Amino acid sequence: MKNFAYARATNAAHAINLITQNGRAKFLGGGTNLVDLMRENIEQPDALVDVTGLPDQIEEMTDGAIVIGAAVKNSTVANHHLIREKYPFLAQAIVFGASGQIRNMATVGGNLLQRTRCYYFYDEAANCNKRAPGSGCDALEGFNRIHAILGTSPNCIATHPSDMCVALAALDATVHVEGKNGKREIKFDDFHRLPEDTPHIETDLQADELITSIEIPQNNFAVNSLYRKVRDRASYAFALVSVAVALEVENNAIKNVRLALGGVAHKPWRAFEAEIFLTGKAATEENFRQAAEAELKNAKGFEHNSFKIELAKRTIVSVLSELTENGGAK
Ligand code: SF4
Repeated sequence: MKNFAYARATNAAHAINLITQNGRAKFLGGGTNLVDLMRENIEQPDALVDVTGLPDQIEEMTDGAIVIGAAVKNSTVANHHLIREKYPFLAQAIVFGASGQIRNMATVGGNLLQRTRCYYFYDEAANCNKRAPGSGCDALEGFNRIHAILGTSPNCIATHPSDMCVALAALDATVHVEGKNGKREIKFDDFHRLPEDTPHIETDLQADELITSIEIPQNNFAVNSLYRKVRDRASYAFALVSVAVALEVENNAIKNVRLALGGVAHKPWRAFEAEIFLTGKAATEENFRQAAEAELKNAKGFEHNSFKIELAKRTIVSVLSELTENGGAK
């Protein structure tokens, strides 16, 4: 069995009644778009494993942390009272992420493991280091409007497509995994990887491991939070740029801020530079702009996506301003 296939096939994911066996529906896992990729002949797993036994509950711990089982449906997370009360931008991100039908089937584990929507990744006639390592990257000189501007490498400029993961990155979530060597925890920012020389290796998950749950630590200020998704059309489109912000302002000074970007990198992009700049500063538009400039200072555009750099800056400023003025979209 190929390690790659096993790793992707054994995680809680978009549950689909794809095959029936002995009259019973089997659920398949491995990333929200695994079945699409199998239909397109891009992924050919040696085996698909039934993952319906993974945890499917949302629990509040005694310390206030919330643990979401890998098999919990996206719609369940978005509608859960604790998520809506404590982390409204997580619920917003999920709602912006997909249609109601998809949210009702897609799982938290599968959302984390979905793969890029780079056109060339899906085109067997194209060169793609992610699909065929060493073959090249046709997006570099091709139509790269949807591609990355941060953390790119000469080997791949794809983006991670998830909205939910952008909010989870801002929330300092932890990914709980389990394999033959036992359990371990992965910080959310370490779970997804930048492309570097190995764009085909997208996560820190090992070949024999399953995602079992996501833990969101107690957070008193994410109640004031907002997710903004900028895209080419209002529905059924992935983010050109998205911004997730949780903000606490006290006496007009920023006490706590968590900021992450989507649609700009191979992974959900935690905006640490902007957070460092903003902490302790006055909540002014000028400071928001300087924070955005700091975060995007190393951004690199390509022929068709350079507009994303300014778009990301403006969206950061806009979301921070709205949170400051209105106290957030709760
Ligand atoms: Fe493949 Fe990445 Fe290049 Fe897209 S950007 S063609 S996924 S290597």
